[in-house]
Amino acid sequence: MNTNEFRQWSQRAADWGADYRNSLRERPVRPLVDPGDIFRSIEATPPEDAEPMDRIFADFEEKILPGMTHWQHPRFFAYFPANAAPVSVVAEYLVSAMAAQCMLWQTSPAATELETRTVDWMRQALGLPEGFSGVIQDSASSATLNAVLTMRERALDWQGNRQGLAGQARLRVYSSDQVHTSIDRAIWVSGIGEDNLVRIPVSGRFRSMDTAALEAVIVADRAAGMLPAGIIGSVGGTSIGGTDDIVAIAGVARRHGLYLHVDAAWAGSAMICPEYRHFWAGAEHADSVVFNPHKWLGAQFDCSIQFLRQPEDLVRTLAIKPEFLKTHGRDGIINYSEWSVPLGRRFRALKLWFLLRAHGLQNLRAMIRNHVAWSEGLAARLAGEPDFEIVSEPMLSLFSFRHKTTSSADADEHNLRLVNAINDDGRIYLTQTRVDGQVAIRFQVGQFETTAGDVDAAFAVITEIARNSAIQP
Ligand SMILES: *Cc1c(COP(=O)(O)O)cnc(C)c1O
Repeated sequence: MNTNEFRQWSQRAADWGADYRNSLRERPVRPLVDPGDIFRSIEATPPEDAEPMDRIFADFEEKILPGMTHWQHPRFFAYFPANAAPVSVVAEYLVSAMAAQCMLWQTSPAATELETRTVDWMRQALGLPEGFSGVIQDSASSATLNAVLTMRERALDWQGNRQGLAGQARLRVYSSDQVHTSIDRAIWVSGIGEDNLVRIPVSGRFRSMDTAALEAVIVADRAAGMLPAGIIGSVGGTSIGGTDDIVAIAGVARRHGLYLHVDAAWAGSAMICPEYRHFWAGAEHADSVVFNPHKWLGAQFDCSIQFLRQPEDLVRTLAIKPEFLKTHGRDGIINYSEWSVPLGRRFRALKLWFLLRAHGLQNLRAMIRNHVAWSEGLAARLAGEPDFEIVSEPMLSLFSFRHKTTSSADADEHNLRLVNAINDDGRIYLTQTRVDGQVAIRFQVGQFETTAGDVDAAFAVITEIARNSAIQP
């Protein structure tokens, strides 16, 4: 592709992107394809000869697009949002065009320094105290792995990387059962082992860890010769928004010298609004806090910020050349590849910088407040319908509900059938979860372009399909 063609196809892609975003309301949110449909439509062998871009682009539109789930659809109410505000897409285009590796300060000084600045902008925007620094990771899963590796190394007096875990005291990490599965994986990958992730009982509307039980288990583990390493707190768990009392568990962490990591991957974005900060009160005492601007805030995937009280601990855990420790903070040079497992790094700060400037915190706050209000409104409307029940009250913009069956049919099966029927219909997209062992349907409002009208439409679709005799047994 020569420069002229590059220009032409870049312009074509930009036009396509704008038309695509405009067309979303007319598309089903989730594609109506069967497993294997797309795979079979793609040539089984690689091309020996160059093909014209026209044909490649046409295949993209004909074969790929119909198999896409439209995460930027304003009626995407499933999982959590993965917002890519148009301005962040523009920034990503520039990043792709430059395609720099941003692993060391000198491999792109602007990328490193903008990262330091935008992470600090976000720290201020979320109301975290000065003294936290941070880094942009690819995903919350990576940030949590880093936190778990750091708590492991700190507990082992920095000997784990060198000596391995064989022959060491048995490490223990504590969390509730509301945390994301990325915590399980971090525990596996770090060599700590699932049996040493101790699940603390939860209670209350937000399924918060029982702090007294947490403390008792830590004391008992230590008495049994084990090595408590850290606690992982949840703010806005993926199932129903499970949220721990971070002030209380930070107190336990402090009393027992444990590392505290807080996972606020989704809910963290809402902390730009001061009125929601009570949900993570105490996060200022954590050693590590992760939140994903790539979820609710609009900085397209991947962009996950890990705030750190003592980045030296992470660098000591991950840096291949510990002598860089000596330069950290003294000559102002940061090599962010020492703050993450992969060496190569994308330039992720640019989209955050563009996003924050183009929208301003005021507008982002207004969006989040609307989402929360619309979600609460929908929960109230469903609660007012005789055949619906609210299973978990809104935590920010996430709640879950269940449709009551009229027959003796199994309630779980009925609600699974309902969620499938809603998603096959295509006008909205929802996902299910299990609450106290029973199926519930999750609903979250969070897409960048969602309006109050889209949430009204969701009410209409949910009630219409639930009452359609086709899904009744
Ligand atoms: C989405 C989510 C994660 C995982 O985020 P990735 O960036 O995809 O790794 C972790 N924890 C919570 C609470 C989440 O909502």
